[in-house]
Amino acid sequence: MTDSWVNETLYPAWGQRFRVVRELARTRSDFQDIMVFDSEMHGRVMLLDGVVQITEADEFVYQEMIVHVPLLAHGEASRVLIIGAGDGGVLKRVLQHRTVTRAVMVEIDGEVIRLAREFLPAIGGDAWDDPRAEVIVGDGIDYVQRAADASFDVVIVDSTDPIGVGEVLFTDDFYANCARLLTPSGVLVNQCGVPFMQAEELRETSLRRGKFFADVSAYVAAVPTYVGGFMTLGWSAKAAGMRELAPGLLRSRAAAAGVLGTTKYWSPEMQASAFVLPPYIQDQLSA
Ligand code: SAM
Repeated sequence: MTDSWVNETLYPAWGQRFRVVRELARTRSDFQDIMVFDSEMHGRVMLLDGVVQITEADEFVYQEMIVHVPLLAHGEASRVLIIGAGDGGVLKRVLQHRTVTRAVMVEIDGEVIRLAREFLPAIGGDAWDDPRAEVIVGDGIDYVQRAADASFDVVIVDSTDPIGVGEVLFTDDFYANCARLLTPSGVLVNQCGVPFMQAEELRETSLRRGKFFADVSAYVAAVPTYVGGFMTLGWSAKAAGMRELAPGLLRSRAAAAGVLGTTKYWSPEMQASAFVLPPYIQDQLSA
């Protein structure tokens, strides 16, 4: 075994490292540095600009929570827009729902899709070829600006952090268009980072989303390789009351959708409790 390590420097003076079994790809796309390797403990790992995006070992936590929570809170989600998420894991989970008739995924970097399909084939599975899926290589901001009013039930933003190409996905213009393209019972969920280390990210996006949505909050998921404690997913709904559902109702919706029993992190109780926030996170929503 080689004794080489990949370091992820998360913040100026903190990071994590993985022992590498084999490097599979290392390239510079038009948008970012991409690296894929076999790790000793976490299966295959993809980094963008040196930041861990996905590991085979713990991707289920993030993907299940970013998908099942909004779709089951909605209850009848048929048309779903996915922004980013080039590894295909969100698309796969969205298409597990029987209610979904159309899933449009807009990822800016075709190289991420190509490398994920080659080296992380289990993440997207058959989703790429599902007739309900439309995969577009393009900028999410352009897509939402052109999308018709009330044309989607749920928007899922699985983006990189608000630096570089991902920055436009954290702007007023982006959120205003998401609100416009959603139906009156529509929900937007977006990746908001790890607030213990990135408090500004959650605070800023919450203030901005609050300008366009009636109900703005966040929920938490513990993703081992997004280090620093809970990560947050931003919740924005055009109607109030959609995130306060009892586990019994969520269970029957999950059964009807065909996802009950398929999950390793999501459960009706986890969804109901994920909106309970520790004060240090809650403070970022109201500040
Ligand atoms: N679940 C992982 C996470 O949260 O770290 C995976 C993130 S996913 C791979 C992020 C994707 O968003 C990247 O592939 C990146 O290319 C894409 N992305 C960044 N900016 C974008 C934009 N403006 N429009 C569409 N996709 C974008």
